This record gives sequence, structure tokens and C-alpha cells, in this order.
Amino acid sequence: MLRYEDINDISDGRLYRAEDKALLGTNGCKGCSHCCRSDMGASIVLTPYDIYRLTLGTRKSFDELLVNMLVEISLIDGIALPHLKMDGGCGFLVDERCSIHEYRPGICRLFPLGRLYKDKGFDYILQTGQCIRESRTPVVISDWLGEEDLPKNEAFINKWHGFLEFEKKKINEIREFTAVEAERIKGLADKELLEYASIVGDDIEPSEKKLQSYRKEKPEELYEEAEDRVKDLMKIVLSELYMQPYDQSGDKDFYEQFNEKLKSVIRMIRTV
Ligand code: SF4
Ligand code: SF4
Repeated sequence: MLRYEDINDISDGRLYRAEDKALLGTNGCKGCSHCCRSDMGASIVLTPYDIYRLTLGTRKSFDELLVNMLVEISLIDGIALPHLKMDGGCGFLVDERCSIHEYRPGICRLFPLGRLYKDKGFDYILQTGQCIRESRTPVVISDWLGEEDLPKNEAFINKWHGFLEFEKKKINEIREFTAVEAERIKGLADKELLEYASIVGDDIEPSEKKLQSYRKEKPEELYEEAEDRVKDLMKIVLSELYMQPYDQSGDKDFYEQFNEKLKSVIRMIRTV
């Protein structure tokens, strides 16, 4: 988590709200596409809302965005998340312009702003050393973001951020529980190890040699099972919140659908 001194390293040190003005105006970035051409790796992480907008705007499914190598999935901070593929530049940059300007991802909308999350909610920060345009003009942040319904969008961002923390916590719990169990097994005496094997349904001969190899192999098996559970958990999130299409007919807005899907994903994750 960023500390206040870190904020001063990467921003002008101020915390902004949506109604504040910040030095953002780049005159439409005329003649410059520097940040879209940078080799930014996995830094433009996509939320489910970004994918909703992108699939709607490009008329491409999530799978097609992956196949066309515009989007890829990587482990980011320990969890599998989609992001723009930025090897040497963004695939949506055409003739030095963003070809998806109207439905560009949230991080592109923010730039050069960032978000600083607090216990509840977040503040905007103005990152320094990012936009190379020296003279920028003041713009009200809500105008800069151009979100149709900014309060709803901010509530979604908070919920999404909270969910990612929950996902990370769940993954850590699986790994920590497994590590404790694996260490416990390694320390069991032969008699206790036999009892343990019978409880978990493993049929082993009570010879010293067999018990020795069981003591070594069982923890490895548990670690493998734990990683399978972690993968299953991440697959649920990707599948339910990104890959399964959202209704785009307009009957229900994205946020309403996301809230319903999130509830069911949390239920599914709890049983992994
Ligand atoms: S989506 Fe558009 S604004 Fe974002 S990096 Fe790609 S070209 Fe640039
Ligand atoms: S570096 Fe600044 S001026 Fe250049 S494309 Fe990015 S935001 Fe626009």
C-alpha cells in the first residue's frame, strides 16, 4: 500500500475529488501518442466494466479480444487479470490516435491521474513524470473522466477494489492453511501419520519405508491441490465476471448486472 511519502514521489502530493480541477488538459494530445506507445507491460488492467464497454464498442467478444492479441491475461499482484497488451504499444492505437476513444478503458480515461485507495473509498492523485506534455491546462476531474454516471462508476470501482482484496485474501488463506497442514504432516510420528492417512482415506502400508515416502509426498500433493484450488478460484472470477457476456440490450445497466454476478461469484468462491 502507498504511504503518504510515496505519494509525494509519484504525484504532486495533493488528494483530489471528482469536483476538483487538476492540470490535465493536453489539447487532445495533438501530435503525441507517447503513453499509448510505451512498453507498459500489464499496467493497463481492465475491470469487468472496461470489458463490457470494449465488447460493446468493438463488437468483439472477450475471446476475440484475446485471440486478436489486443488483450491478454497475466498474474497481477498474484491474481489473473486481463489487461491491454502493450508490447511496444497498444493495439488500439491507429494512425497515432486511440481508435476506441469513446470506450477506452478506465485507466486510459484517468491518465495522468491515479487513484489512492483508503479504508473506505479513494482519492484521485495527479501522477508526475507520466505525461510528457509540459504545459497542461486545468480541467475538472469529472469532466476529464467523461463517465455517464460518475457516482455509480466510483461505487463500482470501490466495490471492485474491495473484491480483489477479498480474492487475494482467499488465495492467501488457501496457501497458508496448506502450508500449516503440510508442516504438521511432516512432523507426525509414524502412528499419528497412519491415523492421519486413514482419516483422509489414503491406504498405505505401515512399513517404515512407505511411511517415510508418504511423509514426503503427501505435503507435495497438498501443495499441488492448493494450487489447483487457486486456479479454479481465478477461473471462476474470469469466467463469471469477464467471459460470460453481460446483457447489452439496455434492460439492465452494467452496474446492476455486475452486482448480481458478484454476489454469485462470492458464493462460488467460498466453496472452492
Ligand atoms: S486504449 Fe487508447 S488510450 Fe488506452 S492505451 Fe490504447 S490507444 Fe491509448
Ligand atoms: S504523454 Fe500526455 S500528451 Fe502525450 S499522449 Fe500521453 S497524455 Fe497525451
